[in-house]
Amino acid sequence: MSEELNPFKIAQMQLDEAAKILKLEPSVHKLLREPLRMHEATLKIKLDNGSVKEFKAFRSQYNDARGPCKGGIRYHPAETIDTVKALSAWMTWKTAVVGIPLGGGKGGVICNPKEMSPAELERLSRAYVQAFYKFLGPDKDIPAPDVYTTPQIMAWMLDEYEKLVGHKAPAMITGKPLELGGSQGRGDATAMGAVYTIREAAKHLRIDLKKATVAIQGYGNAGWFAAKLLHEMGAKIVAVSDSQGGICNPNGLNPLAVLDHKEKTGSVKNFAGAKNITNEELLELPVDILCPAALENQITGKNAGRIKAKLIAEIANGPTTPDADKILHKKGVFVIPDFLCNAGGVTVSYFEGVQNTYNYYWTAEEVYQKLDKIMTRAFQEVLDMSLKQNVNMRVAAYLVAVKRVADACKLRGWAQA
Ligand code: NAD
Repeated sequence: MSEELNPFKIAQMQLDEAAKILKLEPSVHKLLREPLRMHEATLKIKLDNGSVKEFKAFRSQYNDARGPCKGGIRYHPAETIDTVKALSAWMTWKTAVVGIPLGGGKGGVICNPKEMSPAELERLSRAYVQAFYKFLGPDKDIPAPDVYTTPQIMAWMLDEYEKLVGHKAPAMITGKPLELGGSQGRGDATAMGAVYTIREAAKHLRIDLKKATVAIQGYGNAGWFAAKLLHEMGAKIVAVSDSQGGICNPNGLNPLAVLDHKEKTGSVKNFAGAKNITNEELLELPVDILCPAALENQITGKNAGRIKAKLIAEIANGPTTPDADKILHKKGVFVIPDFLCNAGGVTVSYFEGVQNTYNYYWTAEEVYQKLDKIMTRAFQEVLDMSLKQNVNMRVAAYLVAVKRVADACKLRGWAQA
């Protein structure tokens, strides 16, 4: 049978495994397999040439038993309702596993932002809020940036929302520019959070980070910051890649010089002193730590057997398929699962909302200190569960997160206890 690659089916399969171990009541399990609410709209946007174009838009409110829904809005030509649903499920488990008082949601628009002018993007972003504003708000559902959405887009959305409701409401959206109430440290929060979990996993596995070798797939916001932070901690970054291919230098790469080269040439490829490699080759390099930081479904049943890393830190969402998971577990590869590893972004988004509500703002050092505390505690709770139940880290993270969401649903009387 061919491998399942539909992200929502994968998210449901992962939940089913946890539900079985937790002996979850059938009514709770059923409730947690689907979004509570799925909103859809067709946005009609006037283009700069005077014509009108329709765009499909979604907002999935997966679960808000633990607090208002939280999750980004993605603008992508290949966006699908199932991707939005899967990402909103993973947001639900992500906020639960780090123990912040939020639920899970996600939004998306099927569009190609690379082909749109800033004025068209502004009209699209304002139209998104016009379509869904009744369901959004600091106490209902709080969006944020995701793939191809930016702090500028958050600023337009905030402005449109405040016009519609007639008052200031900075905590209705996060990932805002600093000038409009954004948080210090939000830009590199995902990579910073991931690095805190890598530090804890390295301690557990007795990997000396100062001697460790690292390969990173994806050199965007999350991948580049992770390379920089791990390099600063003494690790050797031996390979990185982007959508056009990768580079490798066993003596180590300088992340800043690679970024400079990517900014000048459009890719990490052809970097002086490094060998060009493919993305497939990067995944199979003999390194201590592998960080997928690009796309879903990169480590599959086909290549998992050839992975040589001791530790995989899933900075990307959904980079490993369930088939691959089984193979990696058998081989003894330690995986920090996506919704734990990349939870730094949503945690600092939560800090942003707290600062907006208090109207009192923290320094970057205060943000990182608080983030370290939350990520380290969450990692330890998942590791303890993994050792206690003798399951891999992904299943353990599900056990911790699903139990918290299920308990909240039962306390509210949403499902039979
Ligand atoms: P980004 O758009 O800034 O960067 C993505 C990188 O992946 C780019 O370097 C791109 O060239 C590369 N890429 C694209 N296709 C590729 C391919 N086929 N092979 C190899 N590389 C490819 O995105 P980002 O914000 O860095 O996000 C990366 C991943 O991390 C995504 O899965 C995202 O959902 C996840 N994530 C990001 C955040 C965040 O705060 N940035 C938070 C949580 C999760």
